[in-house]
Amino acid sequence: MSEVAEKIETRVALSAKVAKFIGQKRKLLIDGKWTEAASGKTFEVFDPATGQVIAHAAEGDKEDINRAVKAARFAFEKGPWSRMTPSERGKIIWKIGDLILKYQEDFSQLETLDNGKPINVTRGADVPLAADMFHYMAGWATKIEGSQLSLSVPYTPGQSYHAYTRREAIGVVGQIIPWNFPLLMAAWKLGPALAAGCTVVLKPAEETPLTALLLGEIMIEAGLPPGVVNIVTGFGETAGAALSGHMDVDKIAFTGSTEVGKLIARAATGNLKKVSLELGGKSPNIVLEDADLPAAIAGSASAIYFNQGQVCCAGSRLLIQQNIFDEVVEGVSKIAKSIKVGAGLDTQTEMGPLVSTIQLDRVSGFLKSGKEDGAKALAGGNRKSGAGYFVEPTVLVNTTPNMKVYQEEIFGPVVTAVPFKNLDDALVAQANDSIYGLAAGIWTKDVGKVHRLAAQIKAGTVWVNCYNIFDASLPFGGYKQSGWGREMGAEVLKNYTETKSVCIGYSTE
Ligand code: ADP
Repeated sequence: MSEVAEKIETRVALSAKVAKFIGQKRKLLIDGKWTEAASGKTFEVFDPATGQVIAHAAEGDKEDINRAVKAARFAFEKGPWSRMTPSERGKIIWKIGDLILKYQEDFSQLETLDNGKPINVTRGADVPLAADMFHYMAGWATKIEGSQLSLSVPYTPGQSYHAYTRREAIGVVGQIIPWNFPLLMAAWKLGPALAAGCTVVLKPAEETPLTALLLGEIMIEAGLPPGVVNIVTGFGETAGAALSGHMDVDKIAFTGSTEVGKLIARAATGNLKKVSLELGGKSPNIVLEDADLPAAIAGSASAIYFNQGQVCCAGSRLLIQQNIFDEVVEGVSKIAKSIKVGAGLDTQTEMGPLVSTIQLDRVSGFLKSGKEDGAKALAGGNRKSGAGYFVEPTVLVNTTPNMKVYQEEIFGPVVTAVPFKNLDDALVAQANDSIYGLAAGIWTKDVGKVHRLAAQIKAGTVWVNCYNIFDASLPFGGYKQSGWGREMGAEVLKNYTETKSVCIGYSTE
């Protein structure tokens, strides 16, 4: 075991693979080889539960992005990947899913160590869902189809046309991912790009580069040819900006904040590369008076507190019908107070630390501004003292639409609870009163109310009597400033393919 690994106090004993992995300086994956950054620089990776440095990763920058794009271009134009049959590509993608499951415990431990989230969550959600994404997308590799079209061009005697569309891989893809679900976001991005036959340069978040690098190792083990997936760790303003502005990248796919999404869209204008964006949210979670209240209360707590609230589609605006307001708010507050907050590697932990000091300062700033503006915390309201980036699960009431905590995405375990009178246009307007439109929740037993609200809420996903249900087959993405395009399902393949029309004239005589 390396020295670093021994220093980490933990209940779950780190596997030999994880201990070795974090004990060595992590390199970039370019053209199938592990390589240092051109500058030779590295950056520190922290354990959010202790604030200790746990690993060092290569600090990729423009020159490394250039090398990675060159490798991806060569692999796309000349490499074996493009010449493989879809079935052969699908088998490699499937194998990546299998190997994630083979190393499930290593991935889970590494993700918990790097991001802070509870080990039960990485074991039960992040890692199996990542494997599932590759397994699901492996099947699509053989099912990307064009269509045959019937033309109505003016009749020319003796002449006819056969027309069809081809759906072709878009080319070299840049993918920039966030820190809240590091491995899963890599899977959401890589799975469909590979199924479509693209080659990729992936830039993980600087806060959480580790599981993407382990994924790189198993992709080689799965038989992915060199240059098909290149992984450049580094910072957003340098490596990320170089990738999104690169003139030889055909498409950029980004998940992260709306602010950075706008920078990426601007950077993409140089060569008008295609752009898909999965951005922020301030999602309404509506509890109607006829709901199954115990289920609605438990579901609403989980909607905000899952993953420490660091979820773009978190149910952060809890809208509750007035006559059940007190009961629901008290129920959610009771759950908030009972959540066991602690280090992610402790199997008893239900909520881990936030990912970084920056995130801790951000969320603490929101809590302070809420208090100053007159909001009242029925549960939590503070950061936890001591080492690590911990914040108490919080319920805020007495908020008004002009408050920052009401309008802005907090990206932490903080919910604002607001009453409404009736299911009417005012409620719909209240639910839609946000620059975002990523998701929404509805709790009711009345199917008529479900249809009305589901149709009127401007959001990419509407969960009814459930929340945060993700599946590789279920498209996910945002209306309004929550993004462009959809992840997952058949929809995501549109992000990674171009449609080509082929029109063949032929003589009928
Ligand atoms: P957060 O603010 O929650 O940390 P970001 O949107 O800043 O989320 O980060 C998500 C991803 O975007 C990370 O991989 C980060 O490095 C990257 N990123 C940040 N700034 C830029 C930028 N200017 N250009 C490209 N990528 C960026």
